Amino acid sequence: MYIKKEKVFCPKCKAIMEKINYMNVEIDRCTKCKGIWLDVFEKSELKAKKGSKEVDSGDKETGKKYDKMRNVNCPKCLTPMISKSDRDQKQITYETCPSCKGVFYDAGEFTDFKEETILDFIKKKIVKK
Ligand SMILES: [Zn+2]
Ligand SMILES: [Zn+2]
Repeated sequence: MYIKKEKVFCPKCKAIMEKINYMNVEIDRCTKCKGIWLDVFEKSELKAKKGSKEVDSGDKETGKKYDKMRNVNCPKCLTPMISKSDRDQKQITYETCPSCKGVFYDAGEFTDFKEETILDFIKKKIVKK
């Protein structure tokens, strides 16, 4: 597998991001604030992997601090990103790039996202005819 050696900087704290390969899903994680950048396909892929919240090793309090930051640019294509609340989990605000559709989660947010997802999944299964 070819891994691009491009340098990607955190859209929030500007520290360099490191590439992490989690069960063949490649993600970028900030070396400082531990925010996570996911490309459009990586989001659902990573969410589906068992135990993937492991990659979200950052401090929740740090994440909360950076969560309030607005007017951030996409780390990949530098397009100004828009803040969005998760459709099902309003407490999660993440940034999404309108151009390349990547998403940025502050530390702790992916864990939150992931945990609720499992619950939602179970709920959906019960509701299913
Ligand atoms: Zn950062
Ligand atoms: Zn972008």
